[in-house]
Amino acid sequence: MEEMKNIDDSQYKAMIDQLKIQNTELSDALRAAEEENRAKSSFLSSMSHDIRTPMNAIMGMTSIALTHIDEKPRVLDCLQKIQTASTHLMNLVNDVLDMSRIASGRMTLSEEAFSLADMVHDITILLRPQAAQKHQEFHLEIGTIYEENLIGDPLHLRQIMVNIIGNAVKYTPENGLIHVNISQHFEQSTHIGQESETKVWLDFLCEDNGIGMSQEFLSKIFEPFERVNNTAIDKIEGTGLGMSIVKNLLDRMGGTITVESEEGNGSRFHVSIPFAAAPPVKDAQTLPAGQTVLIAESMDRRAQQIVTYLKDGGMEPVHLQSGMDAVTWLTEAQYENRMPCALLLGQELNDMSALDVATHVRELAGEDFPIILVAETDWAQIEYRATRAGISAFVPCPLFKSRLFAALSELTYKAQRSRSDRAGNFVDYGQYRLLLVEDNELNREIAVELLSQTGVQIETAENGLRAVEAFENSPEGYYDLIFMDIQMPVMNGYDAARKIRQLPRKDAKSIWIVAMTANAFVEDIRLSKEAGMNEHCSKPIDADHLHEILRKRLSCEE
Ligand code: ADP
Repeated sequence: MEEMKNIDDSQYKAMIDQLKIQNTELSDALRAAEEENRAKSSFLSSMSHDIRTPMNAIMGMTSIALTHIDEKPRVLDCLQKIQTASTHLMNLVNDVLDMSRIASGRMTLSEEAFSLADMVHDITILLRPQAAQKHQEFHLEIGTIYEENLIGDPLHLRQIMVNIIGNAVKYTPENGLIHVNISQHFEQSTHIGQESETKVWLDFLCEDNGIGMSQEFLSKIFEPFERVNNTAIDKIEGTGLGMSIVKNLLDRMGGTITVESEEGNGSRFHVSIPFAAAPPVKDAQTLPAGQTVLIAESMDRRAQQIVTYLKDGGMEPVHLQSGMDAVTWLTEAQYENRMPCALLLGQELNDMSALDVATHVRELAGEDFPIILVAETDWAQIEYRATRAGISAFVPCPLFKSRLFAALSELTYKAQRSRSDRAGNFVDYGQYRLLLVEDNELNREIAVELLSQTGVQIETAENGLRAVEAFENSPEGYYDLIFMDIQMPVMNGYDAARKIRQLPRKDAKSIWIVAMTANAFVEDIRLSKEAGMNEHCSKPIDADHLHEILRKRLSCEE
């Protein structure tokens, strides 16, 4: 009391204000706890109700089956209904477990490297048949993808995508339209005192022209057990937990979701999730950079995507719209000895079927020529007919760069190999002399070992300067070919090639100089051409590469 007397009015007021604040905080906390309790009870009662419905069906149908045990059709009908109800029950239990794992914080997100291409193909295989059953048009498109290999949680990403696309299929009537687009954008974030970090955001868009939802329902779409309340929905299997799980997962993953919809006019879901980029996987074979690839496809969007990918890989795409044009083009190319390294056949050609084109091309280009089908088709269904028609490989759509490149590099490598196997039987390269310029001793030794299998005579130099000297000191026409590494100490391959070309002797201009690099990117090819090199090939060079190059060299002499 004594103390209270010493408190002046302003202090007293401050204490009252403080108490008021504490009071408000306490009532907020109470309200939140009550709200959480209410949510939990309503969750429990919805769950019990949802579990009871299929349980009733299972119990009811079991007793009917038992009563009519001798009537096979009746028992069969009961068993089928039991099966449907148990699947529903199983889904419900799984969803509830997922929900409780997420809510209690027991769900851990994994951090693993995964391939977006593999995941999207798995999803397509799962959902396309469901859409086909309802005769829906199902388009899954790939926009700009910077990183195909990501680090994150693939299982939960898959769950999000399957839930959203699965709903689009479910809530869109027969003959409807479902359009999915997957692309990426980068985000550079800088935190004070830390290195800047680059995130790859996966943008996933799913649109349908199905039954849609009212604005009122949209506000509670992410609440557990909420389903649009009408008779159409009642007939569609569902637990009302999918969207809630999606939202919770996205919150944990740092992602976002927006939904736009109109009753009777379809829905549009847009999801963005951040990932880190995984280190690139080293390809076993390299692309035939700098070579021509013919594309026959009348669907412009698809053709443009292929053209962009091929250009990124350093190849020279030629695009034709029709099958007949492609056959004519190849006939002329064959005649003029400028065949492309492969033909990519699209799924839509405005005049002939892809398989008919393949049959013609196989006949004219021989058994080794790579013909690759790039399509949305279910390969298992057409594989027999397609291989008989001469298709060498299939690349599924949605089209990912890695898949296209893997097929191209494998087939062109095989084709080159069998061509050189045949050529190797009758060409004697013993008369040719080659200068191999490579700074790494071990690489040099391996290359000499491999290249000598062709019978060609090999001399070596350990850097660009030594190569220039060796050439300068040799009699005119002594060397037929120079294989030049690019990155070397003392003098690099570009400078050495330039120096050789400038030497005042006749063969300085005509000697074949072949650049050897680990990667064959467009930029490398441009630089080697600018330095006056004739050819470009990727390391490691082997006997097949050499056969190919020697043959080219020979055909230039003729
Ligand atoms: P369900 O298991 O019922 O599909 P979800 O949580 O996945 O549960 O979705 C909740 C509800 O949202 C659905 O029951 C449906 O009423 C509505 N919904 C979700 N996606 C769509 C869509 N693409 N079109 C129309 N309604 C949708």
